[in-house]
Amino acid sequence: MSNGQSGAGPAINGRAYPFTDHIFDVVVVGAGGAGLRAVVGCSEAGLKTACISKVFPTRSHTVAAQGGISAALGNMGEDDWRFHMYDTVKGSDWLGDQDAIEYLVRNAPAAVYELEHWGVPFSRTEEGKIYQRPFGGMTTHYGKGTAQRTCAAADRTGHAILHTLYGAALKAKAQFFIEYFAIDLMMDEEGACIGVVALKMDDGTLHRFRSKRTILATGGYGRAYFSATSAHTCTGDGNAMVLRAGLPLQDMEFVQFHPTGIYGAGCLITEGARGEGGYLTNSEGERFMERYAPSAKDLASRDVVSRSMTVEIREGRGVGKDGDHIYLHLDHLDPKILHERLPGISESAKIFAGVDVTREPIPVLPTVHYNMGGIPTNFHGEVLTKLNGDPDAVVQGLMAIGEAACVSVHGANRLGSNSLIDLVVFGRATADRCIRTVEPDSKHAELPKGASDVAIARLDRLRHASGATPTAELRLKMQKVMQSNCAVFRTGEVLEEGKDLIHDVWSGTDDVGIADRSLVWNSDLIETIEFDNLISQAVVTMESAVNRQESRGAHAREDFPDRNDKEWMKHTLAWADTAARTVSIDYRPVHTYTMTNDIQYIEPKARVY
Ligand SMILES: Cc1cc2nc3c(=O)[nH]c(=O)nc-3n(C[C@H](O)[C@H](O)[C@H](O)COP(=O)(O)OP(=O)(O)OC[C@H]3O[C@@H](n4cnc5c(N)ncnc54)[C@H](O)[C@@H]3O)c2cc1C
Repeated sequence: MSNGQSGAGPAINGRAYPFTDHIFDVVVVGAGGAGLRAVVGCSEAGLKTACISKVFPTRSHTVAAQGGISAALGNMGEDDWRFHMYDTVKGSDWLGDQDAIEYLVRNAPAAVYELEHWGVPFSRTEEGKIYQRPFGGMTTHYGKGTAQRTCAAADRTGHAILHTLYGAALKAKAQFFIEYFAIDLMMDEEGACIGVVALKMDDGTLHRFRSKRTILATGGYGRAYFSATSAHTCTGDGNAMVLRAGLPLQDMEFVQFHPTGIYGAGCLITEGARGEGGYLTNSEGERFMERYAPSAKDLASRDVVSRSMTVEIREGRGVGKDGDHIYLHLDHLDPKILHERLPGISESAKIFAGVDVTREPIPVLPTVHYNMGGIPTNFHGEVLTKLNGDPDAVVQGLMAIGEAACVSVHGANRLGSNSLIDLVVFGRATADRCIRTVEPDSKHAELPKGASDVAIARLDRLRHASGATPTAELRLKMQKVMQSNCAVFRTGEVLEEGKDLIHDVWSGTDDVGIADRSLVWNSDLIETIEFDNLISQAVVTMESAVNRQESRGAHAREDFPDRNDKEWMKHTLAWADTAARTVSIDYRPVHTYTMTNDIQYIEPKARVY
């Protein structure tokens, strides 16, 4: 456990920053579904494991997941992991790594049964099996039939999973550091990660966590955009730490817009609503998805539905006074089904749109929902970088899972319900890797002198920032630029303009000013650190989008409308030099091979639904 020893710490600009040292085998940053699954695995195996979280574990964004978790259980009709694999590869628009996708779908059923045995209260079929609903892009027989593959606990699946996992982690005696804000990684001279520096928010003390493996499970960065379904805490802090450590992020141009965010509020209405029979209409009352996706219709994959809605609005067939949104109908469904299977969204529609779903349609608009891009890893959760020509070089000591990671199983577009399963499958795989490679309780090498200096210098700089622009103003500018210049449809011109504008915001951070200099519950300081994390990710997202001259999955370029496999079937890697404020780009090949001989590589073809 932690030895809790205190040290004098560095003095920065004449100010002392004493810290407390802790020593663990494994430190997990993040207590969402991914982090907690890894924590349970490591702790149960006897590794000394710490879990650091900036919010109380059960307030992590995973709690908000509604629709469900995918696995080919076949409880409600025929299914096979091979069908799930085909759908995921096609959904990814052939940017996903097929070895990792095979790992995901084959391990999915066992991961769901494990959750069931730990106590997740899944909805049930008449026979008592786990209830499964249809979801976008999920088919049987390689696109021919509709699969019922998404396991659900009504429309509160994430809530059920997160609470169960937190209980399991406590039972396994993991040590939690709650409301500790991780600031930066500690790296040694060889480029290995040796731990993390954190600020305890309620008393302002600083803590160094020394670890043999540091697992980043810090979630997505939806809050770089103005309208997002994600929590305000989704600021991609782990991604930004990786950029500051001089390592790349992967495929950041791929940002998923969910078709049905509530107009104005941005809150999510799960795809499960369409899975249960809901459909979209335009101002003419037409079910327009029949034109865009004749076979899957309203259950085509998310990028396809979001673009179709945007085209309808642009061509003057949007609904409402300004013709700027679309209707989602549930009013034809049996109120009993709505009450049983979609109680949460009925409530959200009432509160945030003032709509009674049994009588009226819900006003909806495509809203930022998920980041396909993130920290590149292999399917053991080990972080990768490109080094001396090796595109799969492992960064020692550092791992990443969940929405923060890019394994890459979602490629250019994630299918609904494939994230929750990614959390638990790779959370477990990463724990297994730690169990195999870390010797419990073995000695740690001496912490290099000044290991935490860079982290503390940044903290000090932001704490004493005395410029003229408040953080909230810069953040709003960033969010507006991302929303208008890096959205559902993109062109070279709009992206180039976006690149200039987002670099202006980045330079503007020199003039940021905060009013409160304390370290105790200083929300101004925390929000400034989070903004500083977001802006570097916004910049690499924009630059990666300018750079990719094709359309694939969520990245739709009007000036390059086709997918171009010959030139662009490769992962983008983007590095940011946060001092010089420049971005550099390189590539990694997509893994065009499977994990075993049980399934062959799925050849690229046109993606129609
Ligand atoms: C509204 C909504 C509904 C969704 N519904 C579904 C669904 O039905 N099915 C599906 O498959 N997917 C769904 N998704 C996507 C899925 O829920 C997320 O991708 C997933 O939950 C992310 O989990 P995570 O463990 O990676 O991170 P999160 O759950 O976001 O947790 C991040 C953790 O990191 C911690 N953290 C972050 N930064 C720091 C820091 N600096 N210091 C300390 N701790 C830090 C936080 O405290 C938190 O504990 C939904 C997403 C949203 C927003």
